[in-house]
Parts: sequence; C-alpha cells; structure tokens
Amino acid sequence: MVQRILEAAKIESLDPSAIPRLRMPERGTVFAARAARLLQLAEASNPIAGYLRLMAALADAQQRILSTSTALMPARESIERNQQHSMPIVPALTDERDPAWRDVLFMLLDIIEAAGALTPPLAQLVARLRTTDAATLDTQADAIIALRFAEIDPAAAPFIVAALQVVWTDLATRIAVSDVPYLDAPGVCPLCGSMPVASIVRVGGTHDGYRYVQCGLCSTEWHVVRAKCSNCDSTKGIAYHAMGTPTDDETEEQRAARAKQAALKAESCDECGTYRKIGYQDKAYDFEPYADDLASLTLDLLMGDAGFRRASPHPWLWPEHVDEA
Ligand SMILES: [Zn+2]
Ligand SMILES: [Zn+2]
Repeated sequence: MVQRILEAAKIESLDPSAIPRLRMPERGTVFAARAARLLQLAEASNPIAGYLRLMAALADAQQRILSTSTALMPARESIERNQQHSMPIVPALTDERDPAWRDVLFMLLDIIEAAGALTPPLAQLVARLRTTDAATLDTQADAIIALRFAEIDPAAAPFIVAALQVVWTDLATRIAVSDVPYLDAPGVCPLCGSMPVASIVRVGGTHDGYRYVQCGLCSTEWHVVRAKCSNCDSTKGIAYHAMGTPTDDETEEQRAARAKQAALKAESCDECGTYRKIGYQDKAYDFEPYADDLASLTLDLLMGDAGFRRASPHPWLWPEHVDEA
C-alpha cells in the first residue's frame, strides 16, 4: 500500500499535465473567502439574507481562530497506519478527537457574541451551549459526524460543526498532498472521511477546467471527473437542473440553453436518486461551494419537487428530525 502511494505521488510529480487530484485549503483565506461570499449572496434579494449574514459572521470567527491558533497535529503513527490501510488520513470519526475542539467552540461563541446583533433566541442558544457539559458536546459532535440524524440538535449543530471545521481544516492545511492516500471507497474525503457539500469547476492555474468536490468538514477539495455522480460514481443517468422559471411553452432546447448559462446547477443521478450542486467559476468567479450551497435553498426545493434527495446535508443546515416509521 505504501508503495502504491509513493508511486502515485511520483507519477503526478513527473507528469506536469497530470490532473492535480487534491486542492488543499489555504490557511490564510479559506474561511474568509467563505464569509465574503456569504455576504455577497446575502445581498441579492435572497429570502434568507439575515441568516446568511449571521453565517458569514460565523465563518469570519472561524478565520480569526484559524489565523491565530497553534496547530493540533495527530500522531505520526496514526497517519502512517491510516495510509497503510487506504483509510482517510485524519478521520473525523475517531476516539482520539482533541478535546481542544471544545475550546474552539467557546472561542467562536465569544467572537460571535462580541460582534453583536444576536437575536434573543440566538443569545439563548449561545448561553445554553456555554453551559453544556463536555460529554454532551462530544456526543453531539459524534452524532453529527456519523450523520445520526435523530440525535442531532439542529439549532446547536452549526456552531458545533463550525468548531470541528476549524480543527480539521487546520489539520488539512498542514498535511502534504503526497501523504494523502488513495481511498478504496468513493464519495468521501480522502483526508477526513466526511461527505462533500458541493462541487466547483475551477478556472486558472493547474486546476483549470477540472471539477473538484469540497469536503464539508476539512475544506479539502478532490478531483472528480465531470458528468459523473459524486455520490455513487455512476456516469449514467446524470442530468443538470438550474434555477429560473421556465416559460410555459419552453422547448427542451430552450431549457437546455437556459441551464447552460447558469453559474450554479444541481447535478442529479438516476442511479442513486440524489443530487449535489455544482458551480462554474468561469461564470461566477467568487463561487464558493460551501457558501453557494447554503444560499441556494430555492434549488433544493426545486430538486425535492423533481423527486431527488440531497446526497448529504449541508453541515450548517440540519433538517428537523421527523420519524420515518
Ligand atoms: Zn475532509
Ligand atoms: Zn449517483
């Protein structure tokens, strides 16, 4: 296994035309770019503008902590063990989570509160989180990472996720691409094993024209060829859907032309019945998968009506749990 990893890394470095398989988050800008994009999207008469501005403040707080924090680094031996087994190199689902993640949570709450403009229910939530005991916070973190919906507190989850994102993005910025193994399982982050949010077709540099899906936890992006389901790997039954109101007599060609112009689409898959959003940087340069996914609930409604479900939830927007007996 180790040899296979070395070979893959070597091949990439020898062939300059090879597609870069990973795009690691940039420590100085990752959350700041997200915050800026959320503010941008909050302006254009978005029905959830107020919510997006609050989430922008949360992303700003994440950036402040990431820019000033000291590193949390997992033990070298656990990295090597995971490499040998083609496992995510710093798995989110772990018994060895650094308890410092809870300090990050409290720092986030302090910054958000100091920024002002907390609505009364939000101020209550912040107060509640501050007095929640460590074991309960850890259980919430586990439930979120393992997607055990029935146990997740949807109101508190965005803040808990935000703290975990800071810790795992911190790790991602410190890991060399050549250390990240090729996974046997498709559809999950090779760094932390989490599900991606959305994808982006990038412009410029070595990533030009290639599609990357972005991890919802550690912000690492990995390459997935276009017109392929990022959830189940199928290349059959892939379709694209854009927002906008079709005219009554819209022909199939007109619909296709309208979809072609869109900077944001949903990529659906008939094989697994899910969709994920995809953005085109040549049409919207500041497109940021995490922010744009959160800000485009209208597209989610449209996809729900069309009979598709999200391949994975947005980490800052958890559905209220309903028992499906
Ligand atoms: Zn990840
Ligand atoms: Zn699929």
